Amino acid sequence: MTTANPLLNPTPLVDYDQVMPEHVLPAIEQVIAEHEAGLQRIIEAQEALPTWDDLVLAVDALDARLQGVFYSIVPLMFRDEAWQTQVHACFGLVDVRFKQKLKNARLHALYRRLADSELGVNLDAHRRSTLAQALEEFRQAGALLDDADQDRLVQLEAQIRELEGLFAANIGRSVEHSAIHLTDGQRLGEVPQRLRDEMAQKAKAASLTGWLIACEEAACKAILEHASDRDLRQQVYKAYHTRGWDAEAGHDNEPVLERLAKARHEKARLLGFANHMELSLRTKSAGSVERVHEFLDDLARRVSPMMQRWQAGLRRTASDMGLTDVQPWDLDYLQAMGRRATQALSVERFREFYPLGRVVEALRDLARQLFGLTLNPYEAVGAWDPSVSTFEVVQDHAVIGYLYLDLVERPGKQSGSVFTSYVWNRRIDAEGIYHGAVAIVFSDTSAGLEGAPPLLDPLALRKLFHEFGHALHHLLVRTSNHVLSDVRRFGTDGVEVSGKLLERWACNAAYLASISSHVENGGVLTEAQVQSVLASQETGVRECAENLSRALFDLDLHQAPDDGRTIHERAEASYAKVSRWPMAGFEKPMHAFDYLISGYDAGYYAYLWSDVRAFDLFSRFEREGLLDAAAGRALQEDFFAHGTARSLAESIETFLGRPVSATSYLRGLGLNDTGGE
Ligand SMILES: [Zn+2]
Repeated sequence: MTTANPLLNPTPLVDYDQVMPEHVLPAIEQVIAEHEAGLQRIIEAQEALPTWDDLVLAVDALDARLQGVFYSIVPLMFRDEAWQTQVHACFGLVDVRFKQKLKNARLHALYRRLADSELGVNLDAHRRSTLAQALEEFRQAGALLDDADQDRLVQLEAQIRELEGLFAANIGRSVEHSAIHLTDGQRLGEVPQRLRDEMAQKAKAASLTGWLIACEEAACKAILEHASDRDLRQQVYKAYHTRGWDAEAGHDNEPVLERLAKARHEKARLLGFANHMELSLRTKSAGSVERVHEFLDDLARRVSPMMQRWQAGLRRTASDMGLTDVQPWDLDYLQAMGRRATQALSVERFREFYPLGRVVEALRDLARQLFGLTLNPYEAVGAWDPSVSTFEVVQDHAVIGYLYLDLVERPGKQSGSVFTSYVWNRRIDAEGIYHGAVAIVFSDTSAGLEGAPPLLDPLALRKLFHEFGHALHHLLVRTSNHVLSDVRRFGTDGVEVSGKLLERWACNAAYLASISSHVENGGVLTEAQVQSVLASQETGVRECAENLSRALFDLDLHQAPDDGRTIHERAEASYAKVSRWPMAGFEKPMHAFDYLISGYDAGYYAYLWSDVRAFDLFSRFEREGLLDAAAGRALQEDFFAHGTARSLAESIETFLGRPVSATSYLRGLGLNDTGGE
């Protein structure tokens, strides 16, 4: 008996009400088999004369279906464990299938022949760019290597995966073993009640009385900012900044990271690149290793004096309090003390003015005013959870795609799930049929207590606007094939620009005041009130310096991993270059730098790079109006619409009417620009 599998029938969206756990794996297995057989058919049929429609668009259709079915399945992992097991089983399978495709020398040869043929050289610019991108992808996957080198590549890739897994596992072990148990509540000082309650809950869950401080960012940050107990701050700081290292248990991420960097280096060399950094930049927007160096060095040169001034100021504040030997575990506390004095409104109170429903309305309104988009609630099919909203996206009376918003934490949804999934890329198939874009925005807004609406604090607002920016970029692309419409192909530095850009609205006091509406009485905040809260959250130059030193370290490690210097020496050099506060003797700052194993290796600079561009793009809206329709349309026409058909730099320059400048970004940090970039 065959029953229709709803995951294989998106018209255009999956009806999740019809999906059962037993549909998941068979759907992926079937679509993988179709992909494999389909490619084989294409290869055989195209052997005589490869053409645009029957090679490129036919492969596009297969890739789109595999991607679409897979990303339709991903949200199901946020149901319960039975679903998670099913979805996790699919991850590896899809990854392997795409890798196999790109290692297929016969398929690569057909793309090559088409590109070099008379037909190929006379294709229009978009199609030539598509072919060039596809060929580059084959090269990076090793399709051009001989059998022995292909085998070595497979070995190296397995080794890299294993080392990445070990690095993550070592961090996980430290986190698990380093929670700090307190029985004296006095020691928590001014830690906000909500966080204290969470700590008490964690203790209870571990059958303890009192409070348990987990070795994770939010809890550690709360202690470092609010606990006047200096010993406790030191204890927490040490636990957090030695993650990935445990002398007793013999876990040490330093040799793991060294081996990982060397394996990546060898892989890059095998593929014909000088180092892993050079390989990584082939799929990014920055252009060249030299360009990234220049960018980081220039920023370091300007940020370093500012950091020195900040350090001197902090030492003065400390000395006024009788503290002469300021240590790294005092910095957050001292900084927070200074801010508390000027804050007009608590973050807890601020949240009451941003109930989720109101904020989603504001996002829809922003999309309408800037881009003429209408987001109509779409209820024809069920989503994977009742809290998810589905919208049909209309522009100029045409449905251009669909958007899901899955924004609230719930049991089963992994904490910290903040990302955007690009389910279907916009494309026009060989029959001329239009396929719209589908995006899913995930965020981790805390659920409201006892049925009350979820409320957003400044960070939750930023996260939501950021992801909404990614979704808008994906929906507003106007290119016609699966490759050019894939904004991920800008690389992490390029794709982040749209997210960082929309974040600017969520950091603008006037805009936030204009969308505030108290959850109970609809009351509003003034711009000054919002400004005081935003200022209290601002990490400014210190965060920039931290990101800079990490980016410099990443660049250094992945450019010259075998020059004999240790991880610690590299870390110290990166700290010195941006005048970061010197490390404590026990500190192991790179042992838990997990961005190096989550796709940001040889690419951590992307955060700063995209921030500089986002601030610059936003400066036009600051000048012309935050809801200015002409500036919005220009952003779509000059930037979003082109997909990857032209370089990010060109699109940004067209929108700005000049090359990118770091001035707006530096001004945002409170720096006076001293020329350059
Ligand atoms: Zn992002």
